[in-house]
Amino acid sequence: MPTPEPAAPAVADPSAAGLDLSVLIPVYNEAGNVVPLHRELDETLAGGPLHYELIFVDDGSRDGTAAELAAIQRADPGHVRVAFLRRNCGQTAALSAALDLARGRTLIPMDGDRQNDPADIPRLLAKLDEGYDVVSGWRRRRHDTLITRKIPSRIANRLVARISGVPLHDFGCTMKAYRRRVLEGVRLYGEMHRFIPIFASWQGARVAELEVNHRPRTRGKTKYGLGRTFNVVLDLILIRFFQRYAQRPIHLFGRIGLWSIALSFASFGAMLYFKYVFPWPTGLPLQGKPFVETPLPLLTVMFFLGGVQSILLGVLAEMVMRTYYESQAKTTYLLDEVRQTLSTVPPVDDRAVPVPADGLIAGGGPGGRA
Ligand code: UDP
Ligand code: MG
Repeated sequence: MPTPEPAAPAVADPSAAGLDLSVLIPVYNEAGNVVPLHRELDETLAGGPLHYELIFVDDGSRDGTAAELAAIQRADPGHVRVAFLRRNCGQTAALSAALDLARGRTLIPMDGDRQNDPADIPRLLAKLDEGYDVVSGWRRRRHDTLITRKIPSRIANRLVARISGVPLHDFGCTMKAYRRRVLEGVRLYGEMHRFIPIFASWQGARVAELEVNHRPRTRGKTKYGLGRTFNVVLDLILIRFFQRYAQRPIHLFGRIGLWSIALSFASFGAMLYFKYVFPWPTGLPLQGKPFVETPLPLLTVMFFLGGVQSILLGVLAEMVMRTYYESQAKTTYLLDEVRQTLSTVPPVDDRAVPVPADGLIAGGGPGGRA
């Protein structure tokens, strides 16, 4: 009955009521890029109807980017907010920081190296208004190196689309537009920011894709190489696991464990068979094989231990999973709303209604009261 306070999601700040758009820009060593980028953003957004904020997160730059950002903030205090991280934490973490600060109804992350084009922002917003929750950018004509970036990325994107069932062409494009609700309570780990549309889509969000402009980098260096593709492949395994087994890990580990133990019995049986009952006429080489002359005893032991380990791992994973859901007051189901006649429910203090970390309203009924 006592409901733990959910982990603080990116909460709307009452002072920012009416903010339409937050642009989120993680930057690491982008001196020379941020000032022109800010100018372009200003040209696109300043005269327009939208109330917006530009959130730059300096990811521990060591090349003067921080000073440039501070100057931008002084020059455009009505729109620019800058967060400085104490050291380089990585693009995903920096983006997470920006998300926690953001107050807009719509959120658009983008790169700070001017490869994404601020002129695409109105198009992304227009697409969102067609009734989508996420619009993902597609860098159709991508300006990066072919061998280390474009080809591996194409393969990885195909795999991710196939495995996740979300048919996008370019998961890696930072420039996307989200309705706030989709991102509330989303916690980003590793390099997971590219997979937000997938998680959102699994939670029922409508996801669209829009071609966006991609420009060659004119200043500074890319921070990534071929190695990133391997991370994507590993993340993919994790995603697959989350999609199918996050709520029932014992079914995966347990099944592997049972098969392994079954194999162990099979090889034990084969071992006895070859030594005692092998029915071929005498003289054949395999007859009466002593145990030590075959790999079977070793296999028997390995499969048995592996199986037991796997089942135990499944039990552990179940315990971890429960902590995960319960510590964050996350529900295992995805409730959209509860419709009921109010007279049947005594009035409930607003604060007592738990809002789970994924931002959906839960516990509307009597059981939900604290
Ligand atoms: N970035 C960051 N922290 C890092 C690495 C990169 O904030 O540790 C930022 C970087 O400044 C840029 C964006 O993430 O704004 C994308 O980085 P990059 O251009 O190097 O990636 P690419 O476009 O080559 O994929
Ligand atoms: Mg770039």
